[in-house]
Amino acid sequence: MTVNEKSNSTARWQYLDRIRKTKGPFNDDDYDTSEEVLSMHGTQKILVIGAGGLGCEILKDLAMSGFRDIHVIDMDTIDVSNLNRQFLFRKADVGKYKAEVAAKFVERRVKGVQITAHNCKIQDFEEDFYMQFQFVICGLDSIEARRWINATLVNMVDDENPDSLKPLIDGGTEGFKGQTRVIFPTITPCIECQLDLYAPRAAVPLCTLATIPRQPEHCIEWAHIMAWEQEKPFPTLDKDDPEHISWLYKKALARAEEFKIPGVTYALTQGVVKNIIPAIASTNAIIAASCCNEALKIATSAAPYMGMNETYMQYQGDESIYTNTFKYAKKEDCAVCGNLPKPLQVDPKWTLQELLDSFATNASAQLKKPSIRTEDKTLYMQFPPALEEQTRPNLEKKLKEDLGLEEKQEIAVTDPAFPALSFRFFLKFS
Ligand SMILES: [Zn+2]
Repeated sequence: MTVNEKSNSTARWQYLDRIRKTKGPFNDDDYDTSEEVLSMHGTQKILVIGAGGLGCEILKDLAMSGFRDIHVIDMDTIDVSNLNRQFLFRKADVGKYKAEVAAKFVERRVKGVQITAHNCKIQDFEEDFYMQFQFVICGLDSIEARRWINATLVNMVDDENPDSLKPLIDGGTEGFKGQTRVIFPTITPCIECQLDLYAPRAAVPLCTLATIPRQPEHCIEWAHIMAWEQEKPFPTLDKDDPEHISWLYKKALARAEEFKIPGVTYALTQGVVKNIIPAIASTNAIIAASCCNEALKIATSAAPYMGMNETYMQYQGDESIYTNTFKYAKKEDCAVCGNLPKPLQVDPKWTLQELLDSFATNASAQLKKPSIRTEDKTLYMQFPPALEEQTRPNLEKKLKEDLGLEEKQEIAVTDPAFPALSFRFFLKFS
């Protein structure tokens, strides 16, 4: 570094340095402001998961907070509809990998930062990959991916090795609302402990869809669920195929006209069918900023960070502005960090199929491809095909009468989305 470059660099970080060099009332007594400690900042290796709306903001904020060694994972490519808020992308980037383009953009703008892009799924990496990072920041819109990384980081903790504990900072937004969470795996409540905050949206009863639709969404769901099944215009529904969405849109529109319901549009059809939640650029900016502030505080101890006491910050911008930071309790029956089975309310007259289906909508399970066994018996396995075939007849059988399941009996449920986990439940008959 030349003298000139060095003075530029000093000028560039003077405000950040002032925060780090000034001991405040909340700092520990032994808070160290020596050059040696200060110069360590930025050398920590950080992993960002997601290079979309939140991820673009997070990468920029981390680089501007002095972090210099950042990795980013995202399997997605850039779509033209991303350009309004994912500000690291330009029209010429459409079709390219998000992680790669975002990394290059931030590297160009912030000298000295190195961002390594991984254009793949988080599930493609093993534990040793995650072990190299000091902490992980998630800017994801998928609950499943969050649950996966959460379970992986909790499983990685080895009491003998303090470096195996990787703090997880998780940001999420939905329209004008958002949240930031900080998790110290095994020590503080994990994402799975808070799963019921993501309860699947209450389904509209089929009879409403079939007989008395009241809202444009009901007409779209009718086209999606009932008209498609009856008419099967294409062998399988591809929610990304405009021709398929157009078919649903026309069906929904005709039905809406019949019931004099206004508001069915192509965009709404796409939104309902694909479950799209509107993304707002400024909400992303606020949540990403709060995630990166926590990252900076954890990395430098410059100020107390979330995680140890308060773990959860919620931001609501839909009615004026409201934020609240609170402590979320750890659950003893959490499938990831707890050690007790969860109660599961079931009707003993249910068939095994009905029990299986209930896991998708159960707020504390949310499993799409469950396999079930008791301590001594396999009730149903999705894989391998031979075992599936062998256990399939059980699907028709009633839980108590045919399968002999009892009140308080424990069952274990697995799902290919979370290969490391076994969800334990004990039955409560209603
Ligand atoms: Zn947990």
